[in-house]
Amino acid sequence: MRSTKIIATLGPATDSPEMLGKMIDAGMNIARLNMSHAPADWVRRVVRDIREHAKARGISIGILLDTQGPAIRTGDVAARIPIKVGDRFFFLTRDDSGTVPPGALSTSVGYDRFADDVEVGKTIIVDNGEIRMKVLTKTSTRVECECLTDGSMGSRRHINLPGVRVSLPALTDKDRADIELGLEVGVDYIALSFVRDPADMEQLRSLVAPSPHQPRLIAKIEHQFAVDHFEAIAKVADAVMVARGDLGIECPYEELPIIQRRIVKKCQELGRPVIVATHLLESMITNPMPTRAEITDVANAAFEQADAIMLSGETTVGKYPLQCLEVFDTITRRIERSGGARYHELADLTSPRQKLAKSAVLLANELRAAALIVFTRRGHMARYASWLRPQYSPIFAFTDRWPAADALTICRGVHPRVTPFFHDQPEKTVDAALAQLVQEGVLKRGDTAVILGNVTAGDQVVDAVSPRTI
Ligand code: PGA
Ligand code: MN
Repeated sequence: MRSTKIIATLGPATDSPEMLGKMIDAGMNIARLNMSHAPADWVRRVVRDIREHAKARGISIGILLDTQGPAIRTGDVAARIPIKVGDRFFFLTRDDSGTVPPGALSTSVGYDRFADDVEVGKTIIVDNGEIRMKVLTKTSTRVECECLTDGSMGSRRHINLPGVRVSLPALTDKDRADIELGLEVGVDYIALSFVRDPADMEQLRSLVAPSPHQPRLIAKIEHQFAVDHFEAIAKVADAVMVARGDLGIECPYEELPIIQRRIVKKCQELGRPVIVATHLLESMITNPMPTRAEITDVANAAFEQADAIMLSGETTVGKYPLQCLEVFDTITRRIERSGGARYHELADLTSPRQKLAKSAVLLANELRAAALIVFTRRGHMARYASWLRPQYSPIFAFTDRWPAADALTICRGVHPRVTPFFHDQPEKTVDAALAQLVQEGVLKRGDTAVILGNVTAGDQVVDAVSPRTI
């Protein structure tokens, strides 16, 4: 069984009901909806399709709604605008085309204070680094640049202003509407883009607090401000994403491997699931095989024992989405057999229940248990067990509610299962779970499993760890 979880972003290449079924069968654990591109009715449809597929298979598939956040995007252009080194290019924050010299190249920007945020002499980066421009002059509604690269300007391209704290709010009106939609359809995770400090996460937390459905909140670390406040941000988030796409533009690129390593390590100290995202298999957007460098990058994330790795363009517009899942699956399984970085040994456990989970993991390691079986209502015990990275034993987390199971899809090594709980007879719940795992072929006669969960002691129900021979 694979411990590293796979997140795949859905898009035109993968959003048909048939393709979704194939993606699930190829190993997708979480489907990501990128709200920079997703209309509301599309979200409603794919969420319904994913839930149907998961139900038909009796398995948990997580759904992650990824907000656009305070990102600056260019407006629509009728056709791509070719640009050459040395060209003048104008960004207009409102319809100011009258002030642009005739024949000059221009596009609009969907953010009023763009001109306030840019600085004359600084570099503007468009479309993931494809286009670089130098700011020559600005007025309150118009920014004039010199193109430093050849390329072409498409519609709705992302603009990075490295080192600038953009004055957009942490949650834009669009984000608020998207989050409301996410709560309405019951997504399992909401990711906040361009988090700058813990207060941004707290804002998201208070926005979702009134909802009866509580998605887990992911902080995307994608610029220098977030790197600077990383630990404080991780503490108020439920999980963290190393969003290398923007991070690699906003920070000097040679810092990227160091930042990734530091974040992944710190997350395992704090017990926050961590995702390594973006460009892991970028060349597979057009090629059926990964490059050797990509193989090594995926292997590195698995070696660091990240909880999850993520596909973006590879599965939204790529030619080989299913092959990408297969490549992720093959590499991670191999690396998992060869050991890992063991950063979890730094785990900073604080509560008695966390320490009980540790004793279960240590027992599972000692016994080389075929499974660590956790009974958990809200998922906490399963998350603690995952945090401590059992060496040989997959974690089967039994819960009695689908949302709790779906919220565990991000956790390394956790295989969620839903089963009815017999509250006054925990033994009956355990027996049913063991029978289910035997029937699935996970456990066979003679295997040892470690059980972490509730037992009846006299007239009390208490947490306990116990070994069990099947
Ligand atoms: P994005 O975030 O795909 O929404 O830009 C991920 C990243 O920047 O790596
Ligand atoms: Mn990003």
